[in-house]
Amino acid sequence: MPGPNRQEPAGSTALGLVDAVVREFEDIPFEAIVKEDCLRRGIWFEPEALAAGHRYARKSYFIFSFDHRPLSEMEGEASVRDDAPEEIMLEGGPWDFRRVVVSVRLNPDSPWRVTLSDEGSPVLSCEGETICQVGFAPTPPYYGEALSDGTPITEVAPSIEWGYLLYLTVFRMCQYFGKEEECQFCDINRNFKQQREAGRSYFAVKPIDRLMEALERVVASGAQAEAYTLTGGSVLSELEGEDEAGFYIRYAEAIESRWPGRWTGKMVVQALPKEAVQRIRDAGISIYHPNYEVWDPALFEKLCPGKARHVGRDRWIARILDAAEVFTPARVIPNFVAGIEMARPHGFVREEDAWRSTGEGLDFFMSKGVVPRFTSWCPEPLSVLGRENGPASLRYHVGLLRTWRDTHARYGLPAPPGYGKPGIGNAVFSVSSFMDVIATGTPMAPTRP
Ligand code: SF4
Repeated sequence: MPGPNRQEPAGSTALGLVDAVVREFEDIPFEAIVKEDCLRRGIWFEPEALAAGHRYARKSYFIFSFDHRPLSEMEGEASVRDDAPEEIMLEGGPWDFRRVVVSVRLNPDSPWRVTLSDEGSPVLSCEGETICQVGFAPTPPYYGEALSDGTPITEVAPSIEWGYLLYLTVFRMCQYFGKEEECQFCDINRNFKQQREAGRSYFAVKPIDRLMEALERVVASGAQAEAYTLTGGSVLSELEGEDEAGFYIRYAEAIESRWPGRWTGKMVVQALPKEAVQRIRDAGISIYHPNYEVWDPALFEKLCPGKARHVGRDRWIARILDAAEVFTPARVIPNFVAGIEMARPHGFVREEDAWRSTGEGLDFFMSKGVVPRFTSWCPEPLSVLGRENGPASLRYHVGLLRTWRDTHARYGLPAPPGYGKPGIGNAVFSVSSFMDVIATGTPMAPTRP
């Protein structure tokens, strides 16, 4: 079983911890603090809350599992497991929430439960106390359709971030697995396997013509998505006769030649040489995500052994800066997985040390106009780290948000492009609260040159 969270006093209640963190971080919106706790601990649903009769977008498993239990261990709760929404919105209610959007990570043991109120509407509760109202992710107009080969369209082009983003995982595996070089927090290949074993429609590589058919349907439906992300695992040798850049670029070229500039195109691939990054830019991609995951040099070696061996931390960082010359700094947005730096056995013990380390990385990049973003870590049991660890403490997550916000403000940077509007009540980014804690009204960087 995962071990106890570091720093969190034994015997604390979930609401007691939230209360203590809200009091310590009075300058962080309390809604973002609850959101971070839901992200790190997961959420569970009463079946009646799901069956309340409304339509909503179900969890699509758009890349990783983002669950605290494997699917096979939620067999007994299959009605919840199979019908959980992609995201929920928290608003109103006794705590008078301003809207936040939260990605759903299933955990039957979480203190955060979505139940039905006496009036019959879904509410978020914790340890028996009702916190706020809950809305379920809206159903994009094309959901429910199947493609000409029978593939459900949601397997090909799911929509997240409350409909803002089309999430196109075109390679559902990563070639670092099998060599024992996978990032230690990642379950991409094992999630692929569990989805197949569960009999779900889930394919390793998306054929381009299938993706294009799906996007034709998306466009015809009038769906309001504003951006797409092309992503998937790393390609170390070749995939379909292409290197990593070549494999992913083919999809960008197909989309951008059919619908030039219709959406903001984003791509998540490794930190590649500058000439490959230029090819990505030339294919019509607007935003590049070379994810560095963790800043501390020793932790990068331990937690990202494949990236460390095949690229190396120094070269990874140098390539991020090279990419800023190709895309402009504002449109290079590397991801950092918030929480893994606290995981045993290698991670920091004191939250202050983790904030200092990541703060150094944020300062390094932001001083150059590059704004890293976070995904709050879900300790998935199908990953190496998630087998042995519970989540990082709530205090860690909220202190990190403060570090990010203050560093971002100190350099007077615009809100990162490609994430929708910033600020509490506006933000739709669902796997971290970094967009929720930016001051409302912060200007946004343009999404295109
Ligand atoms: S590069 Fe790392 S995080 Fe990305 S898919 Fe591969 S193992 Fe997972």
